[in-house]
Amino acid sequence: MIYNELGKSGLKVSRLGFGTMRLPTVDSNDNIDESEASKMLEYGIENGINLIDTAFPYHSKELDGDGNSERFVGKFLAENSLRDEIILSTKSPVWLMEKKSDFDYYLDLQLEKLQTDYIDIYMLHSLTVPDWENVKKLEVFDFLDDCLSSGKVRHIGFSSHIEVDYVIEIIDEYPKWEVALTQMNYLDEYYQSGVMGLNYLKETNIGSMIMEPLRGGRLVNNIPGEISDLWATAEVKRTPVEWALQYLWNRDDVDCVLSGMTSLEQVKENIKIADTMDEISENDQELIREVARTYRSFIGNRCTRCGYCMPCPHGVDIINCLTEYNIAHMLNDPKASAMQYFSLIGDDARADSCIDCRECLPFCTQMLNIPEELQKVHEYFGSDFDHF
Ligand code: SF4
Ligand code: SF4
Repeated sequence: MIYNELGKSGLKVSRLGFGTMRLPTVDSNDNIDESEASKMLEYGIENGINLIDTAFPYHSKELDGDGNSERFVGKFLAENSLRDEIILSTKSPVWLMEKKSDFDYYLDLQLEKLQTDYIDIYMLHSLTVPDWENVKKLEVFDFLDDCLSSGKVRHIGFSSHIEVDYVIEIIDEYPKWEVALTQMNYLDEYYQSGVMGLNYLKETNIGSMIMEPLRGGRLVNNIPGEISDLWATAEVKRTPVEWALQYLWNRDDVDCVLSGMTSLEQVKENIKIADTMDEISENDQELIREVARTYRSFIGNRCTRCGYCMPCPHGVDIINCLTEYNIAHMLNDPKASAMQYFSLIGDDARADSCIDCRECLPFCTQMLNIPEELQKVHEYFGSDFDHF
């Protein structure tokens, strides 16, 4: 296993981290197959993984409720006396915070679920702009300072799916961030905070952890023929998983890649790749860019995310509505995009909030009929996640 410094935290982390949001389950998402999941963690740790990442809602019945991933990880570490051997990362459910004391309530509950009295990396989970404003009103900086001084938390971080400008703003507002978890893979260089966010993390010496390296498995499953044909032209043959992971590990602004693994085979495969130094040549980089361009040619509309149409006077998040629709078409995975659509875009900002006032039309650089495009988005995703 290869280990990297996690920014200013001083932690030495395996470059492959064990994400526990997609553990094997029986019948329902909240019922983890503990026997199989334990075998996976055992193998991972025996073969060098030293960071396990979980979160309050992973493996819950609802999208954002109290999940069983933390309980399983806590039990596994306690039963195997591994707590002090592992860098344990988990996240605060910021969307549930209504008053200042809620921060401590959830932290203490998470410590109990994890059967530990300290968390190595505690992140504010999936910060959105409204969540960030809300937690600041609830004096989150005092809470974070207290977490560190009490010893309940050793390193503070945040995770987010938001644009780079907001990520920079968050970083600049609190000096004690040591870790950030952002989405990155070769399709997402300019999506969410992307490469510019990673550059800023490097500049500020904040440890960078990566989520969605395989885009939830969509870069490696059901690969369109056009994409397979492109990979077949490579001088050095690699599997789709190797392409995706080695692309990230060849970046000097990536410290740890979290993979949410579902089977022992995936753990073995990922570890084998993580153990291999594999330089991506300039020709390989160009091929990766060509693969990304080809994926993008499958999109549903031509929105470039330039933002000139924003803000919509009626609060519609035009950019992200059109983007999630595009991604659903690009990766042919409606359910995964629907999950993003309903969890990242607020009720009043989804496509069905468009009242067809047409005020945005003159601003679209791509001459899109935005209300018509939003209507297609609404017809595609509907009004709730349940039917996916
Ligand atoms: S047409 Fe829809 S998206 Fe455009 S400004 Fe009006 S409400 Fe907003
Ligand atoms: S102006 Fe047009 S292309 Fe730009 S973000 Fe808005 S809809 Fe997309």
